[in-house]
Amino acid sequence: MPKLKIVTFGCQANELDSQRIAGVMAREGYTLTEDAAQADLIILNGCSIREKAEQKLYSRLGTFQALKSGKPRLRLGVTGCLGQREGEALFRRFPYLDLVAGTGQIPQIPRLLALREASGAAGPPPAPTDLFPDEIDLVRDSPLKAWVSVMDGCDNFCAFCVVPFTRGRERSRTPEAIVAEVTALRARGYREVTLLGQTVNSYGKKLDPPTTFAALLRRVDAAAAPAMRVRFTTSFPLDVTPELAQAVGSLPSVCEHVHLPVQSGSSRTLERMARGYTREDYLQRVALLRAAVPDLALSTDLIVGFPGETEADFEETLGLLETVRYDSLFAFKFSPRPETPAARMTDHVPEPVQAARLARVQTLQAAIGLERNRAWIGREVEVLVDSDEVKRASPLAAGRTRQNKIVHFPAPPGTAEGDIVWVRIADASAYHLKGEPIGSVPCA
Ligand code: SAM
Ligand code: SF4
Repeated sequence: MPKLKIVTFGCQANELDSQRIAGVMAREGYTLTEDAAQADLIILNGCSIREKAEQKLYSRLGTFQALKSGKPRLRLGVTGCLGQREGEALFRRFPYLDLVAGTGQIPQIPRLLALREASGAAGPPPAPTDLFPDEIDLVRDSPLKAWVSVMDGCDNFCAFCVVPFTRGRERSRTPEAIVAEVTALRARGYREVTLLGQTVNSYGKKLDPPTTFAALLRRVDAAAAPAMRVRFTTSFPLDVTPELAQAVGSLPSVCEHVHLPVQSGSSRTLERMARGYTREDYLQRVALLRAAVPDLALSTDLIVGFPGETEADFEETLGLLETVRYDSLFAFKFSPRPETPAARMTDHVPEPVQAARLARVQTLQAAIGLERNRAWIGREVEVLVDSDEVKRASPLAAGRTRQNKIVHFPAPPGTAEGDIVWVRIADASAYHLKGEPIGSVPCA
């Protein structure tokens, strides 16, 4: 049986695409391997969001090219947002490639490989698809937690972002298809689903008839509760509505965690980023969520050193962190991306200034994260035992709370992945909690 190795770069959407690629290639007889030396085909499923992500992929490609020179039958491919953005140019730059496919071409991968093999041709250039590849059987990498795509693409065109160019316009999957997938996952013993979309809470606006993400959450909750937890990411601030806040606060399976990227605390910078909201609009959405969802955990994404960001703008971002007090965040130095308006702005912030601002964000967040986590000491929390976290925490068991916080604890005998363990929190760092188990509900 031929063997396929997939190396995934970037976000959850790319991870899910890798599972789709594995599903398409399974129909061609391929089984997955981690070992590059065993592989007949290696696919690098690439991210394009920042230049650094692209450089990482090119450096791995160089390693695999060396492997291919000693094993001529090994085939190499690049897919994902990078394949979408660069298209045929990748064949010109790396003539030894056997496959380049965009985000909308996953079902066509076997045909593109055959075409290249037969005639050396590149195949049609990538174009974003308007369809959801429902017909593909995913090869999921966990028996416990699953990503479920609910929408893809984006119409917002933030000034820095390449996503509308690599994933196309916003489109939503039907509620019926999503509920059917969640129901099937529940029947197979899954314990958690994460509903995925670039702006997940914009879901449904273009469906006929239109619907809302809150309405979808209600239907998914009915299919998932009480056996499964439901998470969702990534939320766009302007699409946080009272209906959504109420759904997150009241639906039993929906976890109390919202990832709400702010990008900057300065309204001036937000306007230049074309985010469509001000600092005050954002804070109003945070207040709405916090009023409706007890014990809500909030996380965010930030860009430091966006073109024209002054010290005063940056101080406003630090001030916003002090005000909101996030549980965690991802912060990035601005990276100019081809085709985006921000790449054409001329007032770039020098790299050393970006690096210093990034360090200041991380220092401040470490203090806030520690304070947020310490507030859990003495409380009893419901932990879903997770194999990835178990490996990291060995010899302790580990898992996540409904707020998505990692908890390490001495495992009661027989503790297994997928169990719910109640843990009394005794200690906290900025990044995780520690505690003692006080009871458990085995995975059915
Ligand atoms: N849809 C999400 C939102 O509305 O914020 C963002 C999705 S994007 C895939 C993930 C994160 O990458 C963004 O939140 C942003 O912080 C970061 N990012 C995107 N483009 C970037 C760029 N050109 N430079 C630096 N960071 C970037
Ligand atoms: Fe990119 Fe903005 Fe769309 Fe998020 S909302 S995917 S940052 S264009």
